[in-house]
Amino acid sequence: MPGHPQRAPKVRPGFPARLGTVADVLTPHQQAPSASAQSRVAPVGVGLDSSAVRRSMIAKLAQQGLADARVQAALTAVERHRFVDSALVNQAYEDTSLPIGLGQTISKPSVVARMIALLLEPVSGKLGRVLEVGTGCGYQAALLSQVCTEVYSIERLRGLHEKARDNLRHLRLANVHLLFGDGMLGYPKGAPYAGIIAAAGGDQVPACWLEQLAVGGRLVAPVVSVGTQQALLVADKTPQGMVHTLLELVHFVPLKSGVA
Ligand code: SAH
Repeated sequence: MPGHPQRAPKVRPGFPARLGTVADVLTPHQQAPSASAQSRVAPVGVGLDSSAVRRSMIAKLAQQGLADARVQAALTAVERHRFVDSALVNQAYEDTSLPIGLGQTISKPSVVARMIALLLEPVSGKLGRVLEVGTGCGYQAALLSQVCTEVYSIERLRGLHEKARDNLRHLRLANVHLLFGDGMLGYPKGAPYAGIIAAAGGDQVPACWLEQLAVGGRLVAPVVSVGTQQALLVADKTPQGMVHTLLELVHFVPLKSGVA
């Protein structure tokens, strides 16, 4: 690449060709060339080295209690600024939700990290097959691809389904399957899931989600708790039945039925 021939890592032209694995990003020696490769194409506004901004975001999240190394590694590997409009790139590593078009938002990094950490809590290492309801711009799907063996991600708005496909194309994540459809019906073809994670909140969790969850699996989703207020629900499917735990209040876009 112009300017840094001696530092050029072995990546294809037009990086990002693919994301590193979690093991890759945990190895500092492997992280350095990858970061320099990213810096050459970092958009104006994030600066020359977006990995530094990302590291500082993760350090803040860790201070706030994000302890899971798998989630930290995924947040390191996935460049959030590539999933937001160019006008918002400056805010990509702030802990804030941002508009992604069609009235929808990419969730705050702290909330995404918290939900994925909860999803992974019952297992060590990688989680198995996961269903994500609400692909949006594809950011969370990319994170999930780092910590799960297989990701089925469904979106009801065609415009966003296509946007996510564009955003993820260059990452060549072979374990991510983007689906266009009504996630309120789940996706029975991929069931049973080790995990189900929803990025949109309804009055209740659709019964089919719980049916499509494997025994031993966990669901993490926002649900309406009191009035219009949403809370984070963790539902574990045990051999004895479902165990539901309501956690902190959250604010997600509504879960809607049908496609558009
Ligand atoms: N995880 C996303 C967040 C997107 S916001 C990201 O990283 O960008 C939540 C998304 O859920 C919206 O795009 C919305 O269209 C979608 N959604 C709402 N109801 C849905 C449903 N029934 N099926 C699929 N997607 C749904």
